[in-house]
Amino acid sequence: MKKILLCCLALLVVGLVSLGLWIQGGSSKPGNTAKTALDDTPFRTYEAVVPDSPLKLTHFISEANEINVSSSLIVGENEMIVVATQGTKYASERLADEIEKMGKKLTYVYLGHAHLDHSQGARILKDRFPDAKFIAEPKVAALQQLRMTDDDARAVKRFGDNAAVPSLPFEAYDHDVLMLEGREIQLWHDQYGDVGIGHEDEPHTVVYIPDLKALLPNDIAYYRAHMMMGGSTKASRAIWKQQLRDYMKMDLQVVIPGHLPRSQSADMTPSAVLEHSLTYIEAYETALEGSESSDEVIEKMLEKYPGMEHTSALFLGTYMNFVETHRLLFNPRLEKVMSWFPSSFVQWFDHTMWEKKKVTQNLPHDHEHI
Ligand SMILES: [Zn+2]
Repeated sequence: MKKILLCCLALLVVGLVSLGLWIQGGSSKPGNTAKTALDDTPFRTYEAVVPDSPLKLTHFISEANEINVSSSLIVGENEMIVVATQGTKYASERLADEIEKMGKKLTYVYLGHAHLDHSQGARILKDRFPDAKFIAEPKVAALQQLRMTDDDARAVKRFGDNAAVPSLPFEAYDHDVLMLEGREIQLWHDQYGDVGIGHEDEPHTVVYIPDLKALLPNDIAYYRAHMMMGGSTKASRAIWKQQLRDYMKMDLQVVIPGHLPRSQSADMTPSAVLEHSLTYIEAYETALEGSESSDEVIEKMLEKYPGMEHTSALFLGTYMNFVETHRLLFNPRLEKVMSWFPSSFVQWFDHTMWEKKKVTQNLPHDHEHI
């Protein structure tokens, strides 16, 4: 009898291990991971619009398979500042090459929000420019530091050998101005945008350069790219949309969004970037309100924006909004196994996993901003 029980137990363990290995082998990656040839779109440079200012602005954008991340290079006569790093090793090395070509001293690398696609490559820049200071608003820095371990694991899972790990901690910089050769760069804190697995009031800092009339809103604005709407709420989106309307009233020469396809950078104007962002959020809200499932929302958005890049944000964000945590792994075999269970169990499992993820990704948060 004991032998039979042991045999059954062994068979069960072998069965579960085999099932686990089979599920693991089915992992696929979200959109925008196809290898593409390097696009040689030239980066645009913007000149200061006020007299006697030495400042110039240019931007680097990674390829579609590197999720179209933009980094802004604010360049003076002798020094320069970079706003946002890159998400992959290869894109970070190319960004470092661009910085090196400028022949200026890199003084600061500024992080506007604590998401890995804009912070992971910091270690590579630090190796190439050891005197640069890596800074962020204190809440953003604290979140980035808290998320580093998870971010590194997620980056390896998604980008493999091309993951820019390990992360580098950004230091807290508790000011609302950065100076570059005597010229002021304004830091507007506590703005709302892409939330991800954060709280709905995930802090963002928008960078404004008066000399250039340039706004760098990070992931508050995107251009001709799907936007990350995951984790946002009706209330946070209302603030997000109002901010975009407020930026639209400004006299701006350039707005550099957090994500955009390189091929589209030549068509970018401040109004086009801000309008794309506002219209996208409105379209997403309409799709969300009129749909029963995440798949329906995704289908409607893909139909509204055919062929548009950065689809991974649409998939990830929508699965987050429907708390379909297991689908974030993009593993059809896991989805098949989950379909064998009653939907109430799957919902319980997804909510439990989601809450667990939120705890590890967020600072203690006992106050309400919204
Ligand atoms: Zn981003």
